[in-house]
Amino acid sequence: MTEISTAQLKEPVITLSAGPVTCYPRVLQGMSRTVHYDYDPYFQEAYEQIAKRCAEALRIAEPALILQCEPAPAIEAAAASLIGNEDLVLNLASGVYGKGFGYWAARTARRVEEIEVPFNEAIDPAAVEAAFKAHPEIRVVSVVHHDTPSGTLNPVAEIGRIVHDRGALLIVDAVSSFAGMPIHPKDCLADVFITGPGKCLGGPPSLSVLAVSEPAWAHMEANPTAPRASILSLLDWKEAWRSGKDFPFTPSVAAINGLEAAISGYLEEGPEAVWARHALTGRACRAGIKAMGLELWAAQEEIAAPTCTAVTLPEEIESAQLLAAARRLFGVVFSSGVANTEGKLFRIGHMGPVAEPIYAAVAIAALGGAFATLGKPLDVAAGQAAVLAEIVAGEV
Ligand SMILES: *Cc1c(COP(=O)(O)O)cnc(C)c1O
Repeated sequence: MTEISTAQLKEPVITLSAGPVTCYPRVLQGMSRTVHYDYDPYFQEAYEQIAKRCAEALRIAEPALILQCEPAPAIEAAAASLIGNEDLVLNLASGVYGKGFGYWAARTARRVEEIEVPFNEAIDPAAVEAAFKAHPEIRVVSVVHHDTPSGTLNPVAEIGRIVHDRGALLIVDAVSSFAGMPIHPKDCLADVFITGPGKCLGGPPSLSVLAVSEPAWAHMEANPTAPRASILSLLDWKEAWRSGKDFPFTPSVAAINGLEAAISGYLEEGPEAVWARHALTGRACRAGIKAMGLELWAAQEEIAAPTCTAVTLPEEIESAQLLAAARRLFGVVFSSGVANTEGKLFRIGHMGPVAEPIYAAVAIAALGGAFATLGKPLDVAAGQAAVLAEIVAGEV
């Protein structure tokens, strides 16, 4: 960066954040392409093809729905579009994003029931089953696959089967898991599946990619409170690509070019290979963290996400000081907790270009140095030995 003054702050050397993440070089090249006029057939044809390529990655038949906003507003839009004032909603909260969805749902829902678990645990499908027994009229269920501020996964496949059997609609936030592990709309029988390029796809923040089922579209069309001529309208964008109408407003052309490059890179490398390097990086990192004497935040390691490792902050250590030390000494950027998890944990992202096992070694080195400067030396040698052993064992 040369155009703006960053005073005495050094540009990060390696960003191991929980997202957004550094983009793949191919994505940067994609975004350097010129900005075409959105009414021109050249752009419209390219847009259609990109939506189809997203569908290929999502493993759905219809072109994906691309929204011109970050996933957070896209999730708000999904809630506003789908949930009407006759709908009883079951919100599943195992973290900050899951909890947050309940507030959006409550704006339009008849009522919101909630299952909340401590933010280091996962939702138990049996509790979802029990909620349907108590309230058979539940119409919409929402769940976050990987609640990033906790680094934990929910069993969305099991939950999806229950919701589907009960004839309700399921919203799945897969923003920080899609493209980092095997998860697709069909795997969890999602009616609205939301992701974006700024996490495991190694693309820019700014867009959202959604898969919406026919029953979900029908529910939105029958929903009298579904927004129209609004940033929150999913129906406006569906009509644009399904009936050849003009876009509701100008798409983010440069970001669309970046999305194209990110999705193409994902498909060309091969989803299985991409998931495998995310999984190995996560595994190596968790092994290193435990061996150096720290504790994983997740109550059980099985629910620790392969795309982000959350580590319990030792009581005597302050999160901001730890992260600042890692950045000052090594130029390595980590993420703190957010909202309810702030001050309780810190996070090491393994998403996109940094989902490479060597970055587990980088994380252990930078953390070892940062903890040492704060007067808490850890067993860095044992941590690195554990990282390397995992990497060697992971070679196939
Ligand atoms: C990143 C993320 C989002 C989107 O947040 P933005 O602020 O729009 O980037 C939503 N859900 C989850 C689980 C996420 O990790």
